[in-house]
Amino acid sequence: MKTIDNISFEGERVVIRVDYNVPINENKKITDSTRIKSSKETILRVTEKGGIVILLTHLGRPKGFDSELSCSIIVDEVSNILGQKVFFCNSTIGQKAESDVKKLLTGEIILMENVRFFSEETQGNVKFAKQLSRLGTVYVNDAFGTAHRAHASTTIIAQFFRKKYFGKLLEKEVKSIDKVMKNGQKPILAILGGAKISSKIPIIESLLESVDDILIGGGMAYTFIKARGGSIGDSICEPNLCNYALELLKKAKNKGVNIHLPSDVTIADSFSNNANIKESKIEEIPDGWQGLDFGPESILKLEPLIAKSKTILWNGPLGVFELDSFSKGTIALGEYISRATINGTFSLVGGGDSVAAVKKFGLLNKMSYVSTGGGAMLESLEGLTLPGIKALEE
Ligand code: AMP
Repeated sequence: MKTIDNISFEGERVVIRVDYNVPINENKKITDSTRIKSSKETILRVTEKGGIVILLTHLGRPKGFDSELSCSIIVDEVSNILGQKVFFCNSTIGQKAESDVKKLLTGEIILMENVRFFSEETQGNVKFAKQLSRLGTVYVNDAFGTAHRAHASTTIIAQFFRKKYFGKLLEKEVKSIDKVMKNGQKPILAILGGAKISSKIPIIESLLESVDDILIGGGMAYTFIKARGGSIGDSICEPNLCNYALELLKKAKNKGVNIHLPSDVTIADSFSNNANIKESKIEEIPDGWQGLDFGPESILKLEPLIAKSKTILWNGPLGVFELDSFSKGTIALGEYISRATINGTFSLVGGGDSVAAVKKFGLLNKMSYVSTGGGAMLESLEGLTLPGIKALEE
């Protein structure tokens, strides 16, 4: 992996593809600037080493120019976070863009207009990528969140640079995933939750090659229980995948991977905080009731499983954590993982809903690494090489 460590950027104009696709409210205020903060290390490293920084990003999904999605809206926040004035260029390519970047002095930073104002960006247009490449002499990709897209500024552009590097964020994301998939300390535990098994099949298949234990939680568990002949009442289930679930259990056994399913669950007579609630064995859920969270016995069993694991991947909640009545399993899991992390376990959290859960329960800084990329993270866990990463290595 060609990282920016020990690279001098003296006299170079460094095009950094960042992911500043931040949420913006109706008053044009950024509601979560995590993505901007995550780019700081790379940008400051480049300026400290004598470079000029040209930032490329997309913002939203514009169809052509859209003043509501102009990068001018975010430039002040970028300046605040980086602690220095960041210039804004209202062009992305062409004469004006090229002359603006050439005026910059060592250590200065400029944010270019939204790359997605050009449909050529998402089409991965080579001519457009070449025009973008004229902005700089070095290319750094730090946009993990879009590394799974073969877009002009994330992938195609790389072929026009001899000097191209992984930014610090991209490096951390890739190294974290490698710990689970390739070179982590054993035993390795993958926790997979969320609503449906169908969306996680490629991930489960790929994890069977690298992990020692898989804990199945959330709605996914009920398809396995039904497949084994259990009664799951009205719990979420994908009956067409029951055979697959049984095959998967067999496959895991052959590979020596332990699959852990909850033994008891919290059940409710409706999908609501105000429902009637009780505990039940997972294979004895009465009709009219649905399982929405881990039960007390299953929560107790989580603790030793997590404590013995040296590497943990957490993707997906154990229950309907958005509703207080069904958040106990997910909260307990997050707390056990944070305790294990203090004791030296490497913990990676990724995938939209588990990141939301970790944020909601104040555990964001207690994990070893929380991924910034949803789709990119999931594709990496499927064992795919992301186009943005491949392009840097070619
Ligand atoms: P996913 O996007 O597949 O990771 O699913 C995340 C969603 O699964 C969250 O919104 C959870 O509320 C939901 N979920 C977790 N456990 C269950 C369950 N037992 N029944 C229904 N939905 C669930």
